[in-house]
Formats: sequence, structure tokens, C-alpha cells
Amino acid sequence: MAKVKGDQAKASAVNGSAASDHGEIAVENPATGEIVATVPDRTPAEVIEMVARARAAQPGWEALGFDGRARVLLRAQKWIVDNSARIIETIVSETGKTYEDAQLAEISYGAASFGFWAKMAPKYLADEKVKTSSLFVKGRKLILRYAPVGVVGVIGPWNFPLTNSFGDCIPALAAGNAVILKPSEITPLTSLLMAEMLTECGCPKDVFQVATGAGATGAALIGQVDFIMFTGSTRTGKKVMAKAAETLTPVSLELGGKDPMIVLADADLERAANAATYYSMNNGGQVCISVERLYVEAPVYDEFVAKVTSKVRGLRQSEGANRPGVGDVGAVIFPPQLDTIDAHVKDAVAKGARVLTGGKQAEGVRGRFYEPTVLVDVDHSMDCMMEETFGPTLPIMKVADADEAVRLANDSPYGLAASVYTKDTARGEEIARRIEAGAVCVNDAQLNYAALELPMGGWKASGLGTRHGAGGIRKYTASQSIMVPRIAPRKDLQHFPNSVRKSKTLGKLISVLYGRGKRD
Ligand code: NAD
Repeated sequence: MAKVKGDQAKASAVNGSAASDHGEIAVENPATGEIVATVPDRTPAEVIEMVARARAAQPGWEALGFDGRARVLLRAQKWIVDNSARIIETIVSETGKTYEDAQLAEISYGAASFGFWAKMAPKYLADEKVKTSSLFVKGRKLILRYAPVGVVGVIGPWNFPLTNSFGDCIPALAAGNAVILKPSEITPLTSLLMAEMLTECGCPKDVFQVATGAGATGAALIGQVDFIMFTGSTRTGKKVMAKAAETLTPVSLELGGKDPMIVLADADLERAANAATYYSMNNGGQVCISVERLYVEAPVYDEFVAKVTSKVRGLRQSEGANRPGVGDVGAVIFPPQLDTIDAHVKDAVAKGARVLTGGKQAEGVRGRFYEPTVLVDVDHSMDCMMEETFGPTLPIMKVADADEAVRLANDSPYGLAASVYTKDTARGEEIARRIEAGAVCVNDAQLNYAALELPMGGWKASGLGTRHGAGGIRKYTASQSIMVPRIAPRKDLQHFPNSVRKSKTLGKLISVLYGRGKRD
């Protein structure tokens, strides 16, 4: 049985079932250094058993139909709101993020998502009647339907245990699939709490299960399920895709980013500075769509840098307090991330960058914190401009004009999201279209994620496929095309035997149908 302390005890006991023969994983609060729980490290054999149980449970869940499943999803929506204090406490305890980061980006997203998919699943997955222009199949009924794939495996990261791990399970469930979630070994407790929630809300046994464990548990899941939804680093994403290729298992990959923000000379500098500060530092800078690098047009560079530096200097670190209003920037969730952040800052300084504020691990605090940091005099020879830092750092580069900013924004292996600040929104939109990224905001950043109707997914090394919108649920289905003739004569033109007459008739038909195109 999972051994846990405090409020997590209940969550793990419900879903933890029998002890794993593989060992246990300790869960640490990064803001305090305390071990708050231990969870089983599930073996590949245990994963196989879980998938078998999921397969047995899935047909009953599918048979409930959209309305039956929506009832469970809408109960869960209310559960999230009613139990938000407990969920926030769990998230804060395993991530060390601020109360506000858990409330806005996780509670709000989770609650909205349940309502959205309950309402939209029947619309996005309704049978479609298709019309054809082909004379050869005229008069036939053509239907496109979406059938659940069966069992979906979701593998998640540690930065948003509810939104980026559990969040992707909601449309998979709404589509009629059973789901096995493999949360990050760093932050498994929120997923266990979500399992407890679904059970209380009437989700049938084994339709949703949590396979706690490390990378090996995730790897074991890949060969067993019918679809893999992976969110994590580009490095692991490549391994997941290679493993999935062995069984031709379809994958959707939401990977790393190095999101640029561009500030043009005509921007509202106060709004742009507030946004740059917030969107680079919220969730401790550990957001896949964090502002990771900033390009500012020369005429406003000095004023903008002064504004941002003063705002970043005023930020408070939360020190793990599970209360609103006590901190702005949370802990570094994943221990090795601290070394990456520090290495990027040191590499930049060694190559000529200047630290205007921050620049080192926070001292005199219990947990793992990095000081909110502003870097200037940076360029693309530095890791802080080219590799994902995933921490509270903001490197700012001066550019001559918008063209240079766009060129530098696109000089990246990543293409997740980007933002452009200008009072000329038509120009902002024109620049957005030139940036190689799956999502671009004008005078905003990150907020597109809240528009569940709008697909979100990375270009280049940032991913494959999308979440949200119609594609965000259709990916969890197998499309099936059905054709039924309305009139079925005993013989069609193409049926055997072949003959000269039949070929002549077909030739004339093809010529009439397709031979009248314009010629140059
Ligand atoms: P990670 O790649 O280290 O781990 C992600 C998950 O994969 C974890 O659950 C881990 O246990 C599992 N895993 C590790 N090896 C595996 C293997 N061989 N097979 C199967 N699963 C395996 O990522 P992380 O450090 O947890 O998360 C941070 C990264 O996630 C950042 O790069 C961030 O940008 C990215 N991210 C992307 C999005 C997005 O929507 N694009 C959202 C959040 C985070």
C-alpha cells in the first residue's frame, strides 16, 4: 500500500491498491524539502494488468453514450470546484508552486475542461454525412464516424500535474475510451486525487487508472495501449515516438519550447513589461509556453528593460506557503532543472551577458528556488537563447527592426508559441503569420491555452498533433467511413467482364468529367 502523509493519504489509498513489487517513489515538496508521500513504482507486468482491466471496462463506458459520460464529467466539474482547496493543497505540496499558479492554471483549466468536453464531444464526434462529387459513387450514402480507439495512455510532465497530465485524459474519456495516466514520478499525487474524484463521481471501475512510476512505467505503457498522448521534453518525446513505432501505435506529442516575445517600438510598454514579467515568471518559468526570450526594437529598448527589471526585482518567492497572496514565483520543481537554469545563466555571463537582477540560486530559503533573473547583452551563441531554460529567467535582446526580430524568433529548433506586442494590431497579425510557431498571440501570451476551441500544438521540435478543438478529441478516435448504396442494380459499369465497349464508355465518361480543364 502507498505510504503517505497528510491529505495525500486518502488519495493514494483509493487508487494505490496493492503494493508494487518494484519499490516506491518518494514525493518531495520542492519548496520545503519535505517528503510528503510515497507512491508505488509500477512494474511493466502491473501495467499490462492495468491495461487488461481497462480493456474489459471500456465497452461499458462507451455504451453509456455521450449523455451518460457527460453526467460523470459534469459531476467531476463540480467536484473540482467544491474541493478546490484540497486540490490546490495537493498541487502546491508536490510542486512548490504558488497558490495562484495552482488556482488559475490548474483548477480553472480543469473545471472549464470538464464542461467543455461534456458539451462538445457529441458535436465534434457526431456522425458526418459526406457529399461526393464523384459520379462513380453518386447516389450512395457516405458517412464518417468516430469510434473510440479503446485504451488511451497519457504520459505527463511535472509542471502542471492537473492541466498537462490529467487534462488530456478528459477528452479521451469523453470520447468513450478507458484511460491509463502515467504522471511524472515527481508529481503523482494530483493524478491519484483525480482518480478518487472520478470514482466518487460515478466513473465505472478501471475506466480511469493511474500507473505511478518512472520512465520505465511510461515505456511499458506504450506497447500496450491504442494511443499515446505524451507531454514532456523533446528528448523523451523522440524515445516515445520510436517505441510507439514498434507497434504502430499512434502518438500525439506536446514537447518543449523556446517561446519568443517581440516588443515593437509602438507597443504599450507598460502592458508589454507587465506581460513579459508575468509570462516569463509565472509557475516559476516552468510553463511550456513561457516567454523564454525577448526581442525589443532599439528605440524603446532602454525604457523597456528598465521597466521589466524593476518589476522582476519586486517579485516575491512563495517559499511553499499554501495561501493566496504570499508569493509570486514558486520553486524549481525538478531537482536537475536548477542546474540547467544556473548553467544557462553562467554560460551567458561567460559569453558577455550582464545580469540586471537575480542570477543565482536563492539563499536563506528552505526549498529549491532560483532568483527571478533578467539578462541583457545576450545573443544566439548562448544557451539561454537557444535551449529551453524552463526557469525564472528572462534574456532580452535589442533588435534593429521587426524583420530582425522575426528572423531571430525563427532561428530555433522549437516552434511552440510566440507573442508580438504592438499598438498596430493588423501589423501584429501580419508578423504573427511570419513566425514559425503553433500559436501566436498579439498583445497577449499564453492565454490562447484557455480557449479550448482553439487547437494548440507545436511546430518543428515542439511536437506532433494538437490538443483542444475538434482535433483534440478526434485524435482519440479511429475514423470509419461507411458507404451504403441507395439503389443497388444487379450490375455496375465496372463489374466484370471487361470489354472494348466498356472501356470506350469509361474513356468517354472520364473525358467528359475531367477533360475540360483550362489549358495554358
Ligand atoms: P520528461 O520528458 O522528462 O518526462 C515526461 C514524462 O515522460 C514523465 O512522466 C516521465 O516519467 C516519462 N518518461 C521518461 N522516459 C520515458 C520513456 N522512455 N518512455 C515513456 N515515458 C517516459 O519531461 P518533464 O521534465 O517531466 O517535463 C518538462 C518538459 O515538458 C519541458 O520540456 C516542457 O516544455 C514540456 N512540456 C510541454 C508541454 C506542451 O504542451 N507542449 C506542456 C508541459 C510541459
